[in-house]
Amino acid sequence: MIRIGTCDHCLHRVGGRRTEALGADGGASLRAEALARDKELSSFEVPELCPLCENLFEDVDNIVERITEQTGELDHGSLQIGVHVPKDLIQDEDRIRTRHGATGSRPLKASFSDAVQAGVTSRMDGIEFVKERPDLMILIDCLTLRVDVDIRPVFIYGRYRKLGRGIPQTRWPCRACRGRAEGCEACSGTGLQYPDSVQDLIGEPFRLALSADDTSFHGMGREDIDVRCLGRGRPFVLELKRPHTRRTDLDEIVAAVNANAAEKIEISDMRWSNRSEVSRVKETRSEKSYSIRFRIEDPPEESAIIESISSLSGVTLEQQTPKRVSHRRADKKRKRKVVSIANILVEGNEVQFSVRCEAGTYVKELVHSDEGRTVPSVTSVLERACEVIWLDVEDIHAD
Ligand SMILES: [Zn+2]
Ligand SMILES: [Zn+2]
Repeated sequence: MIRIGTCDHCLHRVGGRRTEALGADGGASLRAEALARDKELSSFEVPELCPLCENLFEDVDNIVERITEQTGELDHGSLQIGVHVPKDLIQDEDRIRTRHGATGSRPLKASFSDAVQAGVTSRMDGIEFVKERPDLMILIDCLTLRVDVDIRPVFIYGRYRKLGRGIPQTRWPCRACRGRAEGCEACSGTGLQYPDSVQDLIGEPFRLALSADDTSFHGMGREDIDVRCLGRGRPFVLELKRPHTRRTDLDEIVAAVNANAAEKIEISDMRWSNRSEVSRVKETRSEKSYSIRFRIEDPPEESAIIESISSLSGVTLEQQTPKRVSHRRADKKRKRKVVSIANILVEGNEVQFSVRCEAGTYVKELVHSDEGRTVPSVTSVLERACEVIWLDVEDIHAD
């Protein structure tokens, strides 16, 4: 190894000998030992670059410096290091090491990563290196010595109740200016179609507390903008992107959100979560209970109304994709079960009832029939046009 010009660091890792010191110091002691034994060894011309690492280990301090510079201000516990080494260097190194090195010696990439880790550990407190789900992913390009720090998002699970109408679940960019930063006249410079959204009413206080760049909102389904969501509320996961700190007192922020958004939304059950819960929440298909109120012209007898609506309890609906969502959903027919209907209340020409149904049921359409696209419907059993006044989600039967 010395004859082919191996550097001290590589000598240590492929030398196959235990030394008291590690890394380059260990290699230096191996070299001194060998030279003392065989004077001729020092007469070989040493190439400028180590054939195994091309002097990569000389850059460890530099890399460690860059990492501490870029992460010093961040409050993070776990780091993962990813190293990109040019493929031809890896292949050459592998060939030489297999041929001349001790069996079982550590490959270049892993050793380099170890050396960087050791350097970071000696300079920063409270750091843990992990193999998955780090707080910070550090990517090192060995060719350019570029260091990129990817701050992984933080996830928080909770449930929200939407107490007011006219609030979309997610941020909705202004239609006129498409939500550009400076906004336009139509949106009074906000860039938003609606000033409030569940996403921002909840997300902004958390974003500020964790000094994050932005949020993503992952709900277990969504209700229409004019629909309230009551009962225990709707489960969701809030994703905070590029947070500069990862810890905060959740209860304190929950209190701030609830005080801030009083009569609009309310959150509860908040806890720290992770990315895999995002898919769980998004994929959960659960039954839901609703209250709905509608108006009929020329209402029949109360008993006839109650009997007709009750007859829908337990039926399977055929629902063609409603007109109102057909621009974003494929047009198809699907079957959805009405689990039960209860609490039918008749007040003049207004009627209200509770209904529990399968996930994905179009409930307004169950009442007004969407011009016959939902069969059967309250409209079809009452043989009269029904106009929905309001709809509330009363419970989401999940979690
Ligand atoms: Zn080397
Ligand atoms: Zn605008």
